[in-house]
Amino acid sequence: MDTAPASAPASAPATDALVALFRRALAVHTAEGRQPPARAVLQAAAEACRGLLAERWATTQAKDAKRGAGQRRVHYLSMEFLMGRALRNAIAALRLEPALKEELARHGVSLADVLEAEPDAALGNGGLGRLAACFLDSFAELGLPTFGYGLRYRYGMFAQGLQDGMQVERPDDWQREGTPWDVERPGIGFVVGFGGRVEAEADGTRRWLPAERLRARAFDFIVPAHGHGHVATLRQWEARAEQPIDFAAFCRGEHAAAGAAQLAADTLNWVLYPDDSTEEGRLLRLKQEAFLVSASLQDLVARHLAEGRPLSELGRANAIHLNDTHPALAPAELMRLLLDEHGLGWDEAWAITRQAVAYTNHTLMPEALETWPVWMFERLLPRHLEIIYRINHAFLSEVRERVPGDEALVRRVSIIDEEHGRRVRMAALAVVASQRVNGVAKLHSQLMVETIFADYARLFPGRFTNVTNGVTPRRWLQQCNPGLSALLDSAIGDEWRRDLSALSALRGKAGDPALGQRLASVKRASKQALAARIQRELGIAVDTDSLFDVQIKRIHEYKRQLLNLLHVVHRYQAMLANPEGPEGRGWTPRTVILAGKAASAYAAAKQIVRLAHDIGRVINADPRLEGRLKLVFLPNYGVSLAEAIIPAADLSEQISTAGTEASGTGNMKFAMNGALTIGTWDGATIEMAQHIGEADVFVFGLRADAVATLKATGYDPRWVAAQQPALMTVLEAIGNGAFSPGEPGRYRALVDGLLNRDPYLLLADFADYVATQSRVDALYRDPVAWNAAVLRNLAGMGFFSADRTVAEYAAHIWSPPPAMPPRADPQRNA
Ligand SMILES: *Cc1c(COP(=O)(O)O)cnc(C)c1O
Repeated sequence: MDTAPASAPASAPATDALVALFRRALAVHTAEGRQPPARAVLQAAAEACRGLLAERWATTQAKDAKRGAGQRRVHYLSMEFLMGRALRNAIAALRLEPALKEELARHGVSLADVLEAEPDAALGNGGLGRLAACFLDSFAELGLPTFGYGLRYRYGMFAQGLQDGMQVERPDDWQREGTPWDVERPGIGFVVGFGGRVEAEADGTRRWLPAERLRARAFDFIVPAHGHGHVATLRQWEARAEQPIDFAAFCRGEHAAAGAAQLAADTLNWVLYPDDSTEEGRLLRLKQEAFLVSASLQDLVARHLAEGRPLSELGRANAIHLNDTHPALAPAELMRLLLDEHGLGWDEAWAITRQAVAYTNHTLMPEALETWPVWMFERLLPRHLEIIYRINHAFLSEVRERVPGDEALVRRVSIIDEEHGRRVRMAALAVVASQRVNGVAKLHSQLMVETIFADYARLFPGRFTNVTNGVTPRRWLQQCNPGLSALLDSAIGDEWRRDLSALSALRGKAGDPALGQRLASVKRASKQALAARIQRELGIAVDTDSLFDVQIKRIHEYKRQLLNLLHVVHRYQAMLANPEGPEGRGWTPRTVILAGKAASAYAAAKQIVRLAHDIGRVINADPRLEGRLKLVFLPNYGVSLAEAIIPAADLSEQISTAGTEASGTGNMKFAMNGALTIGTWDGATIEMAQHIGEADVFVFGLRADAVATLKATGYDPRWVAAQQPALMTVLEAIGNGAFSPGEPGRYRALVDGLLNRDPYLLLADFADYVATQSRVDALYRDPVAWNAAVLRNLAGMGFFSADRTVAEYAAHIWSPPPAMPPRADPQRNA
């Protein structure tokens, strides 16, 4: 870790200068004499910050360019960066908040309104994209030489609306009023080719003649450190046609045809494809991936040479990290650049590529592993396909040499799947080309080498490792929860702001009831703010003394929002049947809060959204409950909504089928904000329980090995349901239309699916889940014990900082390889 700051944090004169810049910018936006709209104030604040950030960027680059042999520059390639808003982070990092507040007060504008006016940059789906954004924050804080690389999607993924409970997708036009943070880099652009053909030159080299050529333009988003002047960069590429209009066609009056090339380029940048339901969609997705990889690696090679380093050192001086397989074309593209553009021989190019590349796997679900039909490569990326064939040939020869006579093994590990219509297996390419492959939590990394990558793990035992995920405590605690942060400062000092492991000092104070009460009042204030928002946006009144039970994440069957809903319906029925509560102790009031987007082509997930809405409509209007149970679905889940909901949560739902959630990071954010967790023994929740103490986490359900055994020996969900009258009553109510009286059959198929298949074992885990929820109720009725448990949870969360995660990557995955022996490479041509 580099501790020498590139420049000091904003001192008083720097703050004065920033305020002066802000005033000048605001004067321009208010020249018409009107009260400045929040959006104009945002623009002015961003302009002021951006100037200083750009200076820090230049200082950082100059310093990183001179790094010694002990440090590599890391290039983090990701199709998704779920950045969220930037202003609050920028003014915190630049220590600008007090001065800016004072300045805004003079204009009668509140900082909160300005922060809310910023669009949420939602260029990702969920956890994988948010992880990339947290890493950028830690790259800056740790002072690592890095570049994040992504695509500049015009419309993100989609904005979620609800109409009668049904999800509707709208374009998320987040750039509509400009993007105040982007720094355009006019000097930086690369040509990326597609299609065409490959020719052999007289000397044996290969020459690719692409049919389509797009220009990649660079836009930088600068991410500041908080403790010093280092910054990280997210460079996002935008596609432009080389010839924006066909002038001759335009003059003939064929206006649409004249713009066709630019339209094709624009399409590439429109949206992050949330699903691959059409062939056109799949082709576009592959094109997006190739575009990201090619522009980024051309940029890398150009920078490496500009730093005055020889090509032979490229792999030692640079790491290329693949966030899942979406950028797994990188090894093929780097080979192409080294062979075709820079004239290296195959062996040297391959050695450099192997040194540079590392890959993080994010899912074990076979259906989520990317493969592309060979014909798509032939059509879009013919030269890359040749290179992949040659990589595969060399790899399979090695396999045959090391394990003679096992052709079944050769077929299983081949980069080309010959059995499903010839497809390129991107995970295989990533594994074969990588120096290191990691999973994102201990259980996931273990299952990864036991299941999907078992063959490769036998062939390359040293290649596989684990790095457990983390989240940035700056956004996910300091900024989203200033009340709790101030309480922590006063309880244990502010060292935790620099080193989250200092939270462990809370363990000795967890039994202090006065501290527990202060904690509870911070929580109450967050719940009041969220309740006001729910009232304002949905017109639903919720009781701020009730337990806020929260599940927010992508809607997916494996995450089991449906299990949550089964519990809600069961509780509803039990409350009606027994108004006095279990053993006459009354019902612990609960507000169940859900949020999440369903992929647009994922019908089962969309049904779950609708069911949540339908159940909520019935329950929320039932006077017999006297407000002791509410179900709320907040639309358009994203980073900003998460920042508002998480500080208000009492209970965090992490209830995936054991063995399916790679890590989860939402689980970490909740525990850092004073929620207790109800969860399965899955992903990083396991390690959280180990750091916190298992007694302070509500663990339930089958474990991963039991899930595998049950599935192997034959799981009969109908039989399981038949043993549990309470569960049958829940399923019958949903299946018979109790929550959809206008269309009684609406959820018949959903319930039949559970009774007949239930692939995620909801029915098997139902009884234990309900029983564990009763333990939650009981603890909540004892505030002293509850608050003590919350404090012990906080005390165990220091490990889950992204700073620790990124430091582990730096030490175990990105550390420079030993010097290559100098060698003459007789084979110059591939
Ligand atoms: C943290 C986060 C996620 C990941 O949540 P999981 O519960 O780990 O799936 C997804 N989306 C957003 C907006 C997040 O902030």
